[in-house]
Amino acid sequence: MTAPARILPERYDPAPVESKWQAIWERDGAFRAEPLSRDGERPVLPARPKAYVLEMLPYPSGEIHIGHVKNYTMGDVIAHYRRRTGAAVFHPMGYDAFGLPAENAAIRTGEPPARVIDRNIARIRDQLKRLGFSVDWDSEIATSDPEYYRWTQWLFLRFLERGLAERREAAVNWCPNDQTVLANEQVIDGRCERCGAEVELRQLTQWFLRITDYAQRLLDDMDELVDWPERVLTMQRNWIGRSEGARVAFRSGDEEIPVFTTRPDTLFGATFFILAPEHPAVGRLVAGLPQEAAVREYAAAAARSSAAERGDAERAKTGVFTGRSVVNPVTGEEIPVWVSDYVLMDYGTGAIMAVPGHDERDLAFARAHDLPVRRVIAPEGVAADEPVEEAYVGPGKLVNSGFLDGMEVPEATRAVTEWLAERGLGERTVGYRLRDWLISRQRYWGAPIPVIHCPACGVVPVPDDELPVLLPEVDDYAPRGQSPIATNAEFVEVACPSCGGPARRETDTMDTFVDSSWYFLRYTAPHLSSAPFEREVVDYWFPVDQYIGGVEHAVLHLLYARFFTKVLHDAGLVAVREPFARLFTQGMIYRDGAKMSKSKGNVVAPDDLVERFGADTLRLYVLFMGPAADDAEWSDRGVEGQRRFLDRLWRLVGALEPGAPAVRPTRESLEDDPAALELVRKAEATVAKVTGDIAERFSFHTAISAVQELVNLGTKHVSEGTLETERERVALRYAAQTAVSLLFPFAPHVSSELWEALGGADLWREPWPEADPAFLERDTITVVVQVNGKLRDRMDVAPGTGREELLGQARALPKIASAIDGREVVREVIVPDRLVNLVIR
Ligand SMILES: [Zn+2]
Ligand SMILES: [Zn+2]
Repeated sequence: MTAPARILPERYDPAPVESKWQAIWERDGAFRAEPLSRDGERPVLPARPKAYVLEMLPYPSGEIHIGHVKNYTMGDVIAHYRRRTGAAVFHPMGYDAFGLPAENAAIRTGEPPARVIDRNIARIRDQLKRLGFSVDWDSEIATSDPEYYRWTQWLFLRFLERGLAERREAAVNWCPNDQTVLANEQVIDGRCERCGAEVELRQLTQWFLRITDYAQRLLDDMDELVDWPERVLTMQRNWIGRSEGARVAFRSGDEEIPVFTTRPDTLFGATFFILAPEHPAVGRLVAGLPQEAAVREYAAAAARSSAAERGDAERAKTGVFTGRSVVNPVTGEEIPVWVSDYVLMDYGTGAIMAVPGHDERDLAFARAHDLPVRRVIAPEGVAADEPVEEAYVGPGKLVNSGFLDGMEVPEATRAVTEWLAERGLGERTVGYRLRDWLISRQRYWGAPIPVIHCPACGVVPVPDDELPVLLPEVDDYAPRGQSPIATNAEFVEVACPSCGGPARRETDTMDTFVDSSWYFLRYTAPHLSSAPFEREVVDYWFPVDQYIGGVEHAVLHLLYARFFTKVLHDAGLVAVREPFARLFTQGMIYRDGAKMSKSKGNVVAPDDLVERFGADTLRLYVLFMGPAADDAEWSDRGVEGQRRFLDRLWRLVGALEPGAPAVRPTRESLEDDPAALELVRKAEATVAKVTGDIAERFSFHTAISAVQELVNLGTKHVSEGTLETERERVALRYAAQTAVSLLFPFAPHVSSELWEALGGADLWREPWPEADPAFLERDTITVVVQVNGKLRDRMDVAPGTGREELLGQARALPKIASAIDGREVVREVIVPDRLVNLVIR
């Protein structure tokens, strides 16, 4: 007797399967994208729909961690799905390679950062390849490559031409530990985003990009971003911080000092005036006065305290009198000018009119320094001359306010603004919390800012054809308040491109967030030497259809990238105004209740897991952990569970006979065969479920569990020996191959191997299955999900699904979770088979 022919080895061993398919995909160029811009080639634009699937590029600081695996696996699922539904897919990968980690390693070891980065990139690339991501490796870029930063510099010069890059003196955030300035967005609660040191304010001349010119458009265009998480949009809106008010001019002699106020109606109550210690007018006002020394001493002390300390509402309101006054434009009164560190250069104009009767902090200052307090708004039942006990900020009628007396606040606001405008003393205006983006860094490992300082000509741009300005070699990478490249005389001392006289190169390098503000464009032209990218190809691929990354970038990278794209749009370089059509922000992975870190010893290494379980198991597990947007807790047993599932699937397929993939039976042909009907019906329901979960709901854990149910059903029939007829054997084969086909985006290697065993070929290009509606009848119904009565999403459920189950599923939907956004659900309206409405406060 001979054993029956087997279509697979008995045991599933992931290592040979994974290396086999990785080699095949590479050989066949399976994931290569067209069109890309290449030297000397005209791009051919496909007529097919396109899908640009992008994950935030990694920082090559060492190796990838488990969070990266989750991020890239999500993107990979979308990319595979879009490919198999007929789209031209672009799924590139690169490295955000400038910046502090490589540089700090260089300072420690003396090894040049470029070499550290090359080694780290090689390591990460190898890790990514072992995980089998369907990346177009031809488009790989590294932002520290001269071929790349040449164009970062070129784009900087376009900003300069358009008046959007400028050098000016300002109070800036200084990290004493990293010895460099930081952008406002890189200061988190008064601390350096990178190292956690308390940030100081310093008065320095630095390069800025004028993102504030785009504040309103960054707000307005959010209307287009319907597929962004509400949380991210809210964070951006708050960061931009639009407020309506008036700009009012106060004069002190020849010096005009504007303020921005949201309460011009209280102008008659402005009894003193305060400047931030860094305000440029301070020095001019006090020059030669007896108060000069005291004011300078106060400003120096303020520079040593952090912005967080200074912003603390509870802090004692210190200050010094300047010896000067300004004229209140409505009363004509001379009011004293003080300097105090609770006024930040960062907000408004760095000067305020103090209205102690109606502002808490101004009142605290007035009490501390014995300054007059005047009531100018009286609520119902309060007399105009009643003394102010606490700052009153509610509604009421104007008092002690000349021509405004008797008006309500909104009317007074309009009247005083008109009055000021008629006299050229002020105007209605809009204020923003957003500040210009400080891009200078006094560090080595970044793109040099491509300008030259000439004593005769001023700031002269490096001519385009002399780019890139290459980072010079230095002996010591340690920052000492200026970039280490300033120590290389050959680099610094140059001839002025304009007059030929002796001049000096700029030695600041650019913030690495400049590099990452346009990398998604360069992917389309990774090695083009004539331009950063070509408009035709960019216009084909953009906007990015799906962007995936961490929410921590909400007011950093995601804001900068939007700004860059708008500027490039205005310069005619790209058609889109927004780079990312859909954004998904994934949750974090914790272990033992904490963020994974080497110091806590709770890190799981992707390589070890690939070694032990296989890449496919790891990919499955990181998506099976729970809703992709939520934080999740790592479980070793969970990984083992996914491996056991793949073993089960392997055995199921291995038990089938050799042959070609089964053709789907018709519904009618199975009417009298309940076992076969059950299998095919389940297969069809699984197709519908997985398709919806990937394409609409971003719900990968439920997609995986649906495939597992299908596999379990097949396994049950095999082990119980219930399948006897030919029709039943076909149904089982069909169910198994459907499971394999649907599992492919998540676990591509083992799926490809099993597909081949089932008589198929190249599953990566096999059309995505479509469910036959004949089998779906009454299998699922669509329930609408509302928040506060507004339609937010739909979900497919079995008829008669219970209230608790409906509620649980509804709340797990990413769109619903983001609509609720942490607020309290006060009522749940559930109409089974029809609707779920969550009422939130
Ligand atoms: Zn720092
Ligand atoms: Zn010159």
